[in-house]
Amino acid sequence: MSVSPDRPFSPPYQCRDCGSEVGFRSRRRTLTERFLLPLLLLQPVRCGECFRRDYRLIFTPVLKRLPEVPKVGPARQPAPPNRNVA
Ligand SMILES: [Zn+2]
Repeated sequence: MSVSPDRPFSPPYQCRDCGSEVGFRSRRRTLTERFLLPLLLLQPVRCGECFRRDYRLIFTPVLKRLPEVPKVGPARQPAPPNRNVA
């Protein structure tokens, strides 16, 4: 008769690889993901730690999608392989 109010239908996200609980909504890339996943009540989710892509129920609480490449700083900085050049 009593359903625990703080633990509704959907379990929280947890990465299967690294166990992180931080997941981000991911873009639906293929036709299969676009049309089939909603029918199965699934959504693509990307792990915030190891960036593994997985499918979760749409009820799973995840964060909004990250910007494409979350890198900060100069894109390329070729390090000199040998600093001891006399
Ligand atoms: Zn992970």
